[in-house]
Amino acid sequence: MTQFTPCRNCAAKLGPQKGFYFVKYKGTQQKGVVECECHKQFVQRELLQYKAAASNIWPQAFDYNIDTDYVGTKSIKEIQRLKKYVYEFSNYKNVMVYIHGPNGTQKSTLAHWIGANVLHQGYSVKYLLMQSLLMTISGFEKDEVRQQEKQAEIEKLKSVDLLIVDEAWNTSAVTLYKSGYQLPFLTQFLKERFEVARKGIVFISNVSPESIAKIFENPLQNLIARSVVRTTLKLEDNYMQTRTDFNPNSLFDEE
Ligand SMILES: [Zn+2]
Repeated sequence: MTQFTPCRNCAAKLGPQKGFYFVKYKGTQQKGVVECECHKQFVQRELLQYKAAASNIWPQAFDYNIDTDYVGTKSIKEIQRLKKYVYEFSNYKNVMVYIHGPNGTQKSTLAHWIGANVLHQGYSVKYLLMQSLLMTISGFEKDEVRQQEKQAEIEKLKSVDLLIVDEAWNTSAVTLYKSGYQLPFLTQFLKERFEVARKGIVFISNVSPESIAKIFENPLQNLIARSVVRTTLKLEDNYMQTRTDFNPNSLFDEE
């Protein structure tokens, strides 16, 4: 909980507690208590921060401004498409989005920005790494209670309004994927979530959708490829490099 600071309006008034003040109803002797707008907004923000923590969304993602904080111009058209998707999420709830680009292209920052925005619109969100998703959905627990807990966790991942999967289809995890044991679980999970329940997914990856086939076999590759034909975003603006290009003297002006 962050400290609540009342606004000037209600701070000057008498009330039962900070952010609330007494009012008299006109023409009567009745008194009432009113919650100030500043307190309502404070509660909204606190609630959002709480939801963000439960969704694995960075709290600072609410302060990120895509128009001023995104660095670079190469992928600006893709950013426009991303904004449309996020701002009109109610129209794109059933869509699978695939965002890819080399390391350093601000993908994770954007992933959290997406999550924060969609949360703000009142939807439920879960952000997690594909590694973590695989661990949750694969295999079975010997203990019955543990298995029920696992099942409940899987149901949550299936039913959340937006699932954001970062470090997806990561080539550095090849050995894990090649072992193949988790792949049927993943295929089943994605089919149930995306095709049956028709719930949206955002994948964040450093490989293009076409490259998935090199590591993952059908039908997983088919499912992803056909689902993201018109919803793939390629990011090319390297944060550090663009910063340096922008000010070539930045390394030398320490006087
Ligand atoms: Zn106030």
